[in-house]
Amino acid sequence: MNKEYEIVIIGGGPAGLSAGLYTSRARLSTLLIERGLVGGLITETELVENYPGFPEGISGLELGELMHQQATKYGLETLLAEVTGLELQQGQKIIKTTEGNFTAKAVIIASGSERLKLGVPGEKEFTGKGVSYCATCDAAFFRELPIAVAGGGDVGITEALHLAKFASKVTVIELLPKLGASRILQERAAAEPKIEFRLNTRVEEIEGEEVVKRLKLRQVITGEKATLDVAAIFVSIGIKPNTDYLKGILSLDATGTIITNDKLETNIPGIFAAGDIRHNSVRQAIAAAGDGATAAIYAEKFITE
Ligand SMILES: Cc1cc2nc3c(=O)[nH]c(=O)nc-3n(C[C@H](O)[C@H](O)[C@H](O)COP(=O)(O)OP(=O)(O)OC[C@H]3O[C@@H](n4cnc5c(N)ncnc54)[C@H](O)[C@@H]3O)c2cc1C
Repeated sequence: MNKEYEIVIIGGGPAGLSAGLYTSRARLSTLLIERGLVGGLITETELVENYPGFPEGISGLELGELMHQQATKYGLETLLAEVTGLELQQGQKIIKTTEGNFTAKAVIIASGSERLKLGVPGEKEFTGKGVSYCATCDAAFFRELPIAVAGGGDVGITEALHLAKFASKVTVIELLPKLGASRILQERAAAEPKIEFRLNTRVEEIEGEEVVKRLKLRQVITGEKATLDVAAIFVSIGIKPNTDYLKGILSLDATGTIITNDKLETNIPGIFAAGDIRHNSVRQAIAAAGDGATAAIYAEKFITE
């Protein structure tokens, strides 16, 4: 028989952990299911400077751990497993996972997003051998070596700044005519002598012998081709919402994020969405945590009313 909970939360990032704190503290039996590292994407950040309450900043890993501790203190149960499907049966929600099935009266979907791939030759072959999607995880492997970052948005520039502490040179490659990162990050990157920029430039191929050696680039306006010798490329070109397991049961927008109303209800009663996975999310930890609280409060109302 499926084990029953009042609330099941899918995803253990800031949205899921904050939702878990609220529902557990409201004395609702709650299971949080996480397939990777509890803490979510923020654990990839060395220093979070914009989460209120930490004037000196806090490491993403520690922030995730503290959130988890706080929710667990009030009774949140955590299961390390992957959710593979969600089904509806007579008002109950069946959550299918790699560790068995669970039943819930309400579900909060907080499964965030994962990094987009470049989709160029060499990317798959050299993943883990110089192609990386996480600077905090892999920067130290490339001390005093030239590296590249694909993508000049907030995440790409944050990663470039972190990588500059290790690498001999960091080349930021951006397809668009200008960087998309916030002004403060752009100012910091401009002041870092190890960081260079190549705008209007596409990565066409990643080449190497066992490990990455060079990138083939193309200037998209002039069509000019170039080769850049690097030991690694960190890909930061955007994200894909983790909604595959929902198999079309919820309304999504064109980018694949879940459409909700302002109570964070989806098109199915008793299913809520919170954090980066939700339509129009600003994709920040504090906003995700706020969403988690909102979804939890309305999920509690859904169950009790
Ligand atoms: C490099 C980097 C730097 C950042 N820096 C900052 C910063 O300085 N400040 C800031 O506010 N924000 C920052 N962010 C953004 C912040 O991390 C996100 O906005 C926030 O983590 C979103 O929280 P979330 O809970 O919605 O999703 P996530 O944190 O993505 O958590 C979702 C969780 O769901 C899990 N999951 C997915 N699918 C399944 C499944 N099928 N079954 C079970 N579990 C599943 C995932 O493993 C993940 O742990 C940064 C992000 C990155 C990548």
